[in-house]
Amino acid sequence: MENAIFFSICSLCYSILIFLVFFSKERLENLENKIYKTLMVINLFGLIVEIFLGTLASKYLVNINYEFAIIILKLILVYFIAWLLTFTFYIVVISIKDKIKSTLKREKIFKIVKNFLFALAFVSIIMVYCLPLDSYREGGAAYTYGPAADYIYILTIIMLLVWLVMFVANYKNIKTKKYIPVFLFIILGMVVVTIQRVYPELTLIIPMQTFITFLMYFTIENPDLQLIRELNIARDQAEKANNAKTEFLSNMSHEIRTPLNAIDGFSQLILEENNINTIKDEARDIMAASQNLLEIVNGILDISKIEANKLEIVNVEYEPAKVFDELVKLTKARIGDKPLEFKVNIAKDLPQYLNGDYVRLKQIAVNLLTNAVKYTKKGSITLNVDIVKKNNICRLIISVKDTGIGIKKENIEKLFTKFERLDLEKNITIEGTGLGLAITKKLVELMHGKIVVDSVYGKGSNFTVAIDQKIVNKVKVIKEEEKKTSKQISLKGKKVLIVDDNLINLKVAARLLLSYKIETEEVASGFDCLKKIEEGNHYDMILMDDMMPKMSGVETFKKLKEIDGFDIPVIALTANAIAGMKENYLKEGFNDYISKPIDKNELERVLKTYLNAKK
Ligand code: ADP
Repeated sequence: MENAIFFSICSLCYSILIFLVFFSKERLENLENKIYKTLMVINLFGLIVEIFLGTLASKYLVNINYEFAIIILKLILVYFIAWLLTFTFYIVVISIKDKIKSTLKREKIFKIVKNFLFALAFVSIIMVYCLPLDSYREGGAAYTYGPAADYIYILTIIMLLVWLVMFVANYKNIKTKKYIPVFLFIILGMVVVTIQRVYPELTLIIPMQTFITFLMYFTIENPDLQLIRELNIARDQAEKANNAKTEFLSNMSHEIRTPLNAIDGFSQLILEENNINTIKDEARDIMAASQNLLEIVNGILDISKIEANKLEIVNVEYEPAKVFDELVKLTKARIGDKPLEFKVNIAKDLPQYLNGDYVRLKQIAVNLLTNAVKYTKKGSITLNVDIVKKNNICRLIISVKDTGIGIKKENIEKLFTKFERLDLEKNITIEGTGLGLAITKKLVELMHGKIVVDSVYGKGSNFTVAIDQKIVNKVKVIKEEEKKTSKQISLKGKKVLIVDDNLINLKVAARLLLSYKIETEEVASGFDCLKKIEEGNHYDMILMDDMMPKMSGVETFKKLKEIDGFDIPVIALTANAIAGMKENYLKEGFNDYISKPIDKNELERVLKTYLNAKK
C-alpha cells in the first residue's frame, strides 16, 4: 500500500516546492492568481488526505471503526469537488475574460459565477456526506462505490459539459497557452482512469491534478510585482528623460537664437554701413556673438558626450605653468574694463611637467573664472593654485574666489544641475546657459577629482577644485623654434586646394590662408577635387571637408590615394566634434585634422608642419 502512494508523496514534494516559489514573491492580486492560490491549497489538502489514507488510515482506522473511516474517505471526495469546481471557475474566467469589455460588468459576472460554484460546492459536500458510500478492499486496493461516488461522476460530467460550452464560446482563443493545462487535464484524466482500471491500487488522480496545477504556474497570468515596479520605474525614467530632452531642445533653441540674432543683426548693419570704424566695431560684436555661439555648441556637445559616456580624458604631457599663464591672460581679457581686481597666487614649486588632460583642466578653471567674472560687479577675483606632492603625484588645488553676488544656501545643490540658472531676477542680464557648472562637475569627476563650493549670499563665492596629476621628471629642452618670437608667417608661393561643399566655409578658409599669402583654389565637391588632381594640377596641401553630400571627404581621400604618385598632405577639416574623431581621421590616413570653426593657432600649426614655413 505504501508503494501505491509513492506518486502522492512525490506530488506533495513538488506541490510544496511550487507553493514556496509562488509565495516567495509578491504577486499581483488578479483573479487568475487568486484562483491559482486556491487550487494550490486545495491540492495540498487532497495530497495530505490521500497520503494519510494510504498510510495510517488504511492500516488502522478501517479495521477499528468503519464509520469513521468512511468519513475520512469522503474527504477525498470533498477535495475532488473543490478542485473540480475551482478549475471550472478558472476555465470560465479565461474563456469569457476578454469577451466582456467593461471591467465592472466582468467583475459582476465573475462574482455571480463564483457564488454559484461556491453554492454548488457547498451543496455537493453536503450531498456527499448525506449519501452512502461503501468501500471494500481487494488485493491491497481500496475501492469506493455507492451513491456518493456516483454523485461525483455526475458532477464531473456536468462540469465537462460546462467546459465544452466554454471552449465553443471561446473557440478563437483556444490555442492560447492558458488552455494547455485544461486539455492536458482531459487527456491525462482519460489515461489515468484507464490505468486505474488495470492497476486500481495506484492512486494517480490527485498526483495528476497536482501536475496540472504545477503546469498552470507557467501558463497563468502571473506578473511579478517586483518586475512591475521595476518596469514602472523604468517607464518613469524614460518619461523624465524624454521631458528633459524636450526641455533641453527648447532651452537650446533659445540660447542659440540669442547670439544668432546678434550675428544676423550686425551683419545687416555692416552691409548698410560705410564708416570703417563702425564696421570694425560691429565685426567685433559679431565675433563675440560667434564665440558665445561656439561656447554653447561646445557645451551641448560636452554634455551629450558626458551623458553618453563618450567623453574621454586624454592624458598628455604638459607644462602647467603655461596653462595657468594662459588662464590668467584669458581672465584678464574677460574682465576687460570691469572694475575688478584680479589677484593671482600660483604655487612657486609647480612641477615643470605634468601628465594629464590639460585641455579639460583648463576648461574647468575657465568655467569657474568666467563665472566669477560674470557674477561679480565690483571687488576682486582671486585665482589660487596650491599643490601637494606625494611620490610622483601632484595634487593641484585650484580655487577661484570672488566678491560677487554669492549663492543662497538652498541653491547650492542646484548649482551643478544642467540648465539650472539661479537667482534669475538678479542674473537676467547675464548671459549663460546653465551648462558650465554641470560640465565642470562631470569633468572633475571624470578626472577623479573633487569640487567644493563655499558661498555667502551677497558677499561672494569660493569654488575649489582638487585634481591629481602625474609628475613627469624630465629636463626642459628649449626647441629652436620656441626661442624665436612668434610672428605672422609668410608662405608666399605655396598653393592649397580647399574642398568644401559649403561656399561660406570655402570663403572663410580661403580668406584665412590669404593672410599667409598662400595661393588657394576652391572646389565644392570630392569629384571636382579628384578632377583637379587627375588633370595634373599641383598643390602643396589639400584641406578636405569630410561631411560632403554624395562623396564624403573620407571617400574622396581613398580615391585620391589610388592615383599614381599622389603624395600631397591632406588635412581633414570638419565640424564633426564627436569624441575620438581626430583619431579616426588619422587612422584613415589623413595627415592631420582641423576642427571647424578654424582656430588660427591650429591652422598655423598645421601650415608650419606641412608647408615648411620660413619665418
Ligand atoms: P551659467 O553661468 O551659464 O548660467 P553655470 O552652470 O556656470 O551656468 O552656473 C549655474 C548658475 O550658478 C548660474 O546661472 C549662477 O546663477 C550660479 N553661479 C555660478 N557661479 C557663480 C558665482 N561665482 N557667483 C554667483 N553665482 C554663481
